Amino acid sequence: MITEATPQPQGADTPSAPILTVDTVTKTYGEGHTAVTAVHEASMDVRQGEFVSLLGPSGSGKTTLISMIGGLLTPTSGTIQLGDKVVSDLDSKELTSFRAEKVGFVFQSANLVPFLTARENLLWVASLRKERGRGARRAAGERADQLLDELGLAERAGNVPEKLSGGERQRVAIGRALMNDPDLVLVDEPTAALDTAMGRQVVQLLRREIKDRGKTGIMVTHDLRMVEYTDRVFEITDGYLELGGDPAEMAASAAHAGH
Ligand code: ADP
Ligand code: MG
Repeated sequence: MITEATPQPQGADTPSAPILTVDTVTKTYGEGHTAVTAVHEASMDVRQGEFVSLLGPSGSGKTTLISMIGGLLTPTSGTIQLGDKVVSDLDSKELTSFRAEKVGFVFQSANLVPFLTARENLLWVASLRKERGRGARRAAGERADQLLDELGLAERAGNVPEKLSGGERQRVAIGRALMNDPDLVLVDEPTAALDTAMGRQVVQLLRREIKDRGKTGIMVTHDLRMVEYTDRVFEITDGYLELGGDPAEMAASAAHAGH
């Protein structure tokens, strides 16, 4: 009689254990008859190195779900675990360092500090970390320059956001999200303010950075065409989350529909 699970061989095709586990997470805003449940008992696993999309129409609960995953919002019930940390159990002080050290965020509008240059926007997040001093500052400078270079922004490093295009601003935001070497990169509708060609370029760069750096990424989008750059798709409708179909087929169906 087999009483134990057979150990999985550690081949190249063996999926690694999940780095992120969302377990029956619910979020209700408000109380009483005005309460709105934005996410209903959502469960998902994401493995180390995966880049997944979270697809759904406006108001379906996408931002609410990734905000809970990133420790910006506390679930009403359920648990979220990233690596060895149960995010949903952290107190507010622990959440602050969790967000600064484990998670990189890219928002819909780049949300850069307007009076800082592209390079300074990257350095600013490095200054939120515990390590200070000259060695840490030098390392941060090198890391910022490397990221700006990879993102095609070397020539733009000294520009303030106002002097950058929308696509460039979003690329700076990607660099900023990667600056502290996070385990998880959370991206909320990065292409919403961009035209299609620019949007594709930004998502391709994002994918490359996530894969080359061995990060795990979740990208929120309502644009079916963007899912082709991700490994798996989760769909959310009226707060109900489920695993979607094959990303390439889903994106192709959008192209056929003439979107
Ligand atoms: P999406 O990102 O998919 O557009 P959201 O997560 O922003 O969706 O919103 C999901 C639902 O929760 C919507 O009905 C929205 O109105 C509601 N909601 C979002 N944030 C709040 C809030 N702070 N207070 C009350 N309701 C909210
Ligand atoms: Mg949203």
